This record gives sequence, structure tokens and C-alpha cells, in this order.
Amino acid sequence: MATTVKHEIGSWDTFHNNGPFPTKVLYETLLEAKGNMPSITDRYNDAAAEIQRLIQLALSNREGFRAYGSAWSMSHIAHQKDNMHFNTAMNLKRTIDVDELHPNATYVRENLFFFECGNIIKEINQFLFDNGKSLKTTGASNGQTIAGCVSTGVHGSALDVGSVQDSVVGINLIIGAGIDDIVYLERHTRPALNDVFASRIKARIIRNDDLFKAALVSLGSFGFIHGITVEAENRFLLNRYVKRISKDKALQLAQTLAFEDADFVVEGETDAGGKPLRPYHYKIFINPYVNDTEYVVEAMYKKPYRSGYPDPVPRIKTAIYRDLILLFTSIAERFRNSIPSLIRLLQTSVLPPVDLQVTGTIGEIFWDAGYQGPAYACAVGVDSRDSPKALELLANLAKNEGPIPGLYAMRFVRQSDATLAFTRFPVTCMLEIDGLIWNPQRDNIISLPQFCTRIIEVLQANNIPFTIHWGKNADWSFPGLIEHMYGANAQQWKECRSALLKEETAALFSNRFLQDTGLSEYIVNAPLALAASVV
Ligand SMILES: Cc1cc2nc3c(=O)[nH]c(=O)nc-3n(C[C@H](O)[C@H](O)[C@H](O)COP(=O)(O)OP(=O)(O)OC[C@H]3O[C@@H](n4cnc5c(N)ncnc54)[C@H](O)[C@@H]3O)c2cc1C
Repeated sequence: MATTVKHEIGSWDTFHNNGPFPTKVLYETLLEAKGNMPSITDRYNDAAAEIQRLIQLALSNREGFRAYGSAWSMSHIAHQKDNMHFNTAMNLKRTIDVDELHPNATYVRENLFFFECGNIIKEINQFLFDNGKSLKTTGASNGQTIAGCVSTGVHGSALDVGSVQDSVVGINLIIGAGIDDIVYLERHTRPALNDVFASRIKARIIRNDDLFKAALVSLGSFGFIHGITVEAENRFLLNRYVKRISKDKALQLAQTLAFEDADFVVEGETDAGGKPLRPYHYKIFINPYVNDTEYVVEAMYKKPYRSGYPDPVPRIKTAIYRDLILLFTSIAERFRNSIPSLIRLLQTSVLPPVDLQVTGTIGEIFWDAGYQGPAYACAVGVDSRDSPKALELLANLAKNEGPIPGLYAMRFVRQSDATLAFTRFPVTCMLEIDGLIWNPQRDNIISLPQFCTRIIEVLQANNIPFTIHWGKNADWSFPGLIEHMYGANAQQWKECRSALLKEETAALFSNRFLQDTGLSEYIVNAPLALAASVV
């Protein structure tokens, strides 16, 4: 039997210390030992029964229950005051058997994999590599769990690929303690797995595009995500370059993404006619305090996999243009205890020298997180065509109403069809601001909450449609914020959630974050057809 360790913790915090938050109980469920229960499916179903026991306990006590992964989200999205469940010991993973593919599936069976919620990206990368495959995209580093990534919409800067949730083709949710409360969701227009698979995990199948899209970026609130079916692809390599280019050119590319017609040419990354190739990944790093004529950009080009390339990890370990917070802390190291001195440094210095060129797999390039202390991160999504204007506005905000200790970056991500995906524009530019947490009184500068509020006000005042990364710092209680960002999709999400969950389980899987955003609203009359199979 899976066993659960219970800790009465009193308070809980995120990986980057964005709390602490008062919390009664922390659970951690450990799988039955392989030796005692050799079948992966048996161990998986055994863990599901244990999660249902915990859910029943919370329901009986009229308390909340929330799963979380690596606690890498910097908002309070993962927090629940009553019961939190730490998932990373629930990390079963498997391929899909021949008899489990749906007859109408358009997927290649060998590309489909089933991961239990607590698998972190690093172990998924290794498992897929061992099977000759790769994730299509990840974030800039590899410590998040798969369920955490999907629940908040984690992205890299893969302009034509999308975010982590865009590779998901099935979701196994535990939505209550009853026999009918293990469900497996798929799109009805793109089924992947059949009833044999569902019966093996004792799930009721619901094939419904709208429900699937709502549950995809679920903010932890559609139930306990127990497992996720992911579409991978063949292993590939990325040639990674970090270059200084003129600010105008960098921003023009941000706006148009017309790489093939631009004069941004990386030696060796051209077609037979000498035209620039379109990169897989494009990212811009910006110091908002220096009127530099050049920006640092990171570009990556996708190549077929080959063995025998030099081990990139020693170089990646020392590379600083990987993750914005890593770049920032590398610069800030000496001034960590003096924010005013740090800001003076930012105001007078250009970004450090660029990293060397390197080639590797997704797992080698988007590697371990290099910084583990207190930090904040704000990230707004705008249409890539609006990105230069949005950057100008938010850089001016930092200069005129700050200064705040932070650097900026821009990443670019293809549109997602998840109902509440913040990557909702044809190509979304994620404009990020990362830095060290400061003390507004001691340092005599605007507070982080005030700065977050001003980001929203400035974008609204300038009529720039935007979204905000669910796992980052923001003024989540800003009046009308969710409707402003998502319009009718917000209502659709609430209706789908209300149709799938009973009122008491909707409350169970809710938290303060959901209340702050207004998304906890239960629509009593939501049509039940929203949670029924379409075919
Ligand atoms: C160092 C660092 C680097 C980062 N880089 C990126 C990046 O490159 N791109 C990017 O987009 N973001 C990035 N982020 C943000 C972070 O990746 C996301 O917020 C992500 O959600 C964190 O995953 P997690 O496993 O830590 O999830 P958590 O933060 O633990 O949880 C996130 C949400 O998922 C829910 N959840 C988790 N597991 C389950 C489950 N089994 N069932 C139901 N709900 C569940 C939680 O309730 C919560 O709502 C970074 C953060 C850090 C600290």
C-alpha cells in the first residue's frame, strides 16, 4: 500500500521564499515498493486509492486540499491553508502499450508517454532520452513537476512550438473520493488512448474538447491531477548562441519574428541560398536602466540528433544567459545585501560578456536552476507585435517609479488552445522582470505589490491587451483583472469546472489564489453536458 507521511507544519513557503503562508498539514504520499508490487499500473492505482482516502478525510473535516509540485511558482497559487500534498514521490512513468491506442488516434504510439504528476522535468528528459525521444519544449530550467508545469502554463521561448501543456493529450484527474471520481480527459476531436487504457487506471473517460481545454491550465483547481499523457518527439539537438545585436534589430525581430527576411545572420545557420534559418528559440535580455544601443539575445536552432557531440554540460553550468534570475543574481552577487548599491550598479553597467556557443539536447541546454535564494518574478504576456511598446512602457515604469532591483527579458511562445493559457496571442511575447526581493521601507523604494499593480495600470492605460503568468508575482486581486485578460474564456472555465466538480469538491480544490482572482465562483446551473463526453 502507498503510505502517506503527515507533517503538521504551521507554515509553508515557495522555493524562492515568496511566503511564508500559514498551513496546517503537509502530506507526502510514498508509492508501494516495487518489490512488493511489481506492476506500474497496480502501484499507480494503489496511489490513487491513497489520494482518495486523503480527499475523503479533508471532505469530512470540511477542509481544503491542494496538490503541489516543486513549489517553484512565486504566486500563492500552490498554497492551501488546510492540507497541502507534496507530489514528487509520485513519479511513475511508462510507455503506451499496443492495445491502448485509440483506433482514431492521429498520434504515433511510440511518441506517447504517461507520467504520474510528481515527475520532475529533469527525470522526464532522461526517461524520454532513454526511449529515443524528447519533450517538445520546457521552461528555462528543469526542476518543475509535469503537473505543476501544465497547471500554470510553463513556457520556454519556442516560438513555433508552444508551452508544456500544448503537448498534453490526456489528463487523469481524481475529482473526489467516490468510485466514479477518477476521470480521464481527452479532446474528442483528437483522441489518443482507448477504453483499455482507461479501465487499467480505473478511470471514466470523458472526451470533450472544451472540458479538456479548460482542465489543461487548471491552476490546481480541477481536482488532483494524477497522471498526464504527453506527446513527445524524436530526440533532437539545439545549437545555442548568445550574441549582442543592435537594440533596433532585436526589437524589430521581436515585433515581426520574420527571421528569414532579416539581416540577423548566425554563421552556419543559413539555408542553401544563404538565407537565415528560423530559430527554434529567441530570447532577449535587457537592462532597463541603461540606454544601451545593443541587447544580448539567445538564439537556438533545431537539428536532427546525432551522437558524439562534445558534452555541453560543463559549459552550460557556467553559462549565465540561461535563466533571467540566474543572470540577475550573477550580476548582483556582490551587492545582495545592499539594494541601493545594486541599483546603482545596474544604472551604470552593461550586461556581462556573452556565453560561448554550445550544442545539446533539450535536457542539457535547459538545465538545473542556478539560483535558489529569495527572488521575485513578474511576467506579462503581450501580442508579439505589441512587444517593443510594452517593453518601453514597463522599462519606463521601472526607471520612473522604481528603481527596482531587476532585469528584463522577452521570450516568444506560440498560441495555446487552453482556455486560460496566458499564451493566448498568435505569438505571445512573455515580458519578464526578475530580481531579488527588497524591503521597500529600508530601501526607500516602491514595494513589489505596488509595482505589480502599476504594471497592470500602465498596460491598461495604454490599451495593450495582456495576460500574466499564473505562477509569478502579480496583483492577483486587481478588480476585474481576469475578465480583462480572458473575457468570455474566464466564464467558460468556471462553467466547465462547476460542471465537472460537485459544489463541495469545488470548494475543496479551491484556495485563496482562486478567491482573489474570482475564479473560485461555482456556477450552480452550469450545464452538465459541459462535463460529458461529446462522442
Ligand atoms: C528557478 C525557476 C525557473 C522558472 N522558469 C520558468 C520558465 O522558464 N518558464 C515558465 O513558464 N515558468 C518558469 N518558472 C515558474 C514555474 O516553473 C511555474 O510556476 C511552475 O508551475 C512550477 O512548477 P511546480 O512543479 O513547482 O508547481 P507548483 O508551483 O508546486 O504548483 C503550481 C500549480 O500546480 C498545481 N499542481 C501541482 N501539482 C498538481 C497536481 N498533481 N494536481 C493538481 N494541481 C497540481 C498547484 O496546486 C499550483 O496551482 C520558474 C520558476 C523558478 C523558481
